[in-house]
Amino acid sequence: MTAPARKVAVLGATGSIGASALDVIARHPEALRASVLAAGGRVDALLALCERHRPEHAVIADERGFAALRDGLRERGLSTQAHCGDQALVELVGSDACDTVVAAIVGAAGLTSTLAAARAGKRLLLANKESLVLAGELLMDAAAQAGACIVPIDSEHNAIFQCLPDAHAHAGLKRILLTASGGPFRGRTRSDLTDVTPEQAVAHPKWSMGPKISVDSATLMNKGLEVIEAHHLFGVGGERIQVLVHPQSLVHSLVEFVDGSTLAQLGLPDMRTALAVGFGWPQRIDSGVAGLDLLAHGRLDFERPDLDAFPCLRLAFEALAAGGTAPAVLNAANEVAVSAFLQRRIGFLAIPALVEDTLAALPSQPASSLASLRDADQRARRHAEQAIVQRA
Ligand code: NDP
Ligand code: MG
Repeated sequence: MTAPARKVAVLGATGSIGASALDVIARHPEALRASVLAAGGRVDALLALCERHRPEHAVIADERGFAALRDGLRERGLSTQAHCGDQALVELVGSDACDTVVAAIVGAAGLTSTLAAARAGKRLLLANKESLVLAGELLMDAAAQAGACIVPIDSEHNAIFQCLPDAHAHAGLKRILLTASGGPFRGRTRSDLTDVTPEQAVAHPKWSMGPKISVDSATLMNKGLEVIEAHHLFGVGGERIQVLVHPQSLVHSLVEFVDGSTLAQLGLPDMRTALAVGFGWPQRIDSGVAGLDLLAHGRLDFERPDLDAFPCLRLAFEALAAGGTAPAVLNAANEVAVSAFLQRRIGFLAIPALVEDTLAALPSQPASSLASLRDADQRARRHAEQAIVQRA
């Protein structure tokens, strides 16, 4: 007898990870079904996905989009139920509408639904790294208590997950080597970066991704967030995590063991591999991604990251070492700064400057509860916004 199909909730369905997840799901109609699709505000994009994937539920976060979603579903003759708002999403994620959740909302906005999936013991395909940076301990504790299986979708952490299959491997783990493409500005000096534009920053050489993570890759804040993410997922301190710039983006990360062995996972830079690992684990299923032709690629290079040109990576290591509310402050200030950069309100180098200024203004406090973390997040957002206004 074959197992019943996994019922998958895709949160952030209209985004880049959402599209990759739906592509993998559509390759396995017997085993996987998109039962809940959720987006932020783009009703038309969500309706198009509903027409294609026929979920039972569709959720638009922005309540102003509800009527258009409901009417659009009706006009298309779809039986998909329309919902709106965070609370509706939390209830669906916790219900038997799904057993698997792809958490791919961008930013801290994804925390509530990601936590709900962990608390409900779902299989959690976790792309929304900001929720781990903001509330990693709470999220990991909630998952452990409810027996939720977290499969990291961030390619580096998915690679490490594949290299650390069980507790025995964890016990012999010496350190983690996180690879970074270096982003579109690899090799530039700090002064070369003064006038770079949002268009240049989002033009990633290897990966096709949403605008926020693309800018994070250009500043290396993405790697900084990933260091904190790795700390929570795999229980290692910042001193045991090394970042290696690897411009070919074929080695997705490595783990070193106490016996001198180093294991790596390699593959083409396509997020469908990580998502297929998440859906199929511990089995392997087709992702649509071709295998790696190492002869065609020829070489694998590794370099040290330039912390002078890209101070965001240093700031993230410092926030991890400070602990408490510092990572939440780092993340919130960065979200505000990246958004302002994309709107051309600030320059590229103002991103690290604003994050550093906000971390200095709001020294780390103990992060004992979700409320204290959310409070730190809000205070950091206000501080960064005010600093942007003052700069202008
Ligand atoms: P995109 O910008 O492409 O998509 C973001 C998604 O989130 C959209 O579906 C958007 O909906 C939705 N969304 C935005 N705000 C809200 C909100 N307030 N409530 C509910 N939904 C919201 O981002 P990516 O797919 O690139 O990234 C998603 C997450 O995955 C990020 O955390 C990123 O760091 C992580 N990630 C992404 C990778 C990639 O390759 N893209 C790789 C590794 C990690 P709408 O379209 O309606 O605005
Ligand atoms: Mg990554």
